[in-house]
Amino acid sequence: MTRPGKIVCIGRNYVEHARELGNDVPAEPLIFLKPPSSVIRDGEWIERPPQSSQVEHEGEIGVLIGKPLRRVSEQEAVAGIAGIVAVNDVTARDLQRRDSQWTRAKGFDTFCPIGNVHTGPVDFDALEVVTTVNGEVRQRATGADMVFRIPMLLSYVSHIMTLEPGDLVATGTPSGIGPLRAGDSVTVSITGISRVTNPVRDRS
Ligand code: ZN
Repeated sequence: MTRPGKIVCIGRNYVEHARELGNDVPAEPLIFLKPPSSVIRDGEWIERPPQSSQVEHEGEIGVLIGKPLRRVSEQEAVAGIAGIVAVNDVTARDLQRRDSQWTRAKGFDTFCPIGNVHTGPVDFDALEVVTTVNGEVRQRATGADMVFRIPMLLSYVSHIMTLEPGDLVATGTPSGIGPLRAGDSVTVSITGISRVTNPVRDRS
């Protein structure tokens, strides 16, 4: 997989996660962008920047786009999926709280680890995302737990911006977010399909 053209992320798409941050579930999908320059691969370092003292993991189910999707139905959106990938939407939580726009908190270099691409057919509701830190499970949920499901999300985004081949949609994180510290190893996996493991260090 080459670097995504754009990374569209969904916020507060699991009820328990919205609550743990003191938020309501939105009435329609909440979207934001991460820059392609934040992408790293399996085994590469997540670097905690000096601007933040609260860097956290967000394990997510990622959808890689295979065909141009412009104002498409849910059915057409599903036909345009190239594959499913594990994504870690690493977030500087203290900066996210300080800013009304999340570009800074979500956009640091190394803040978007992406796993291998699974290209076979999948049951979206059965997809299970699990996040472990140093082998301990921190987050676990399935596609069925989402507020807005994958076909709806892709159709919704496609009515705002054209999704292009190579773009990535990260579909939101379940409850259980928590800190990443120097020396940690964090893994996001889509059970049986994709995984990405990254060590954590402070940027010097
Ligand atoms: Zn996220």
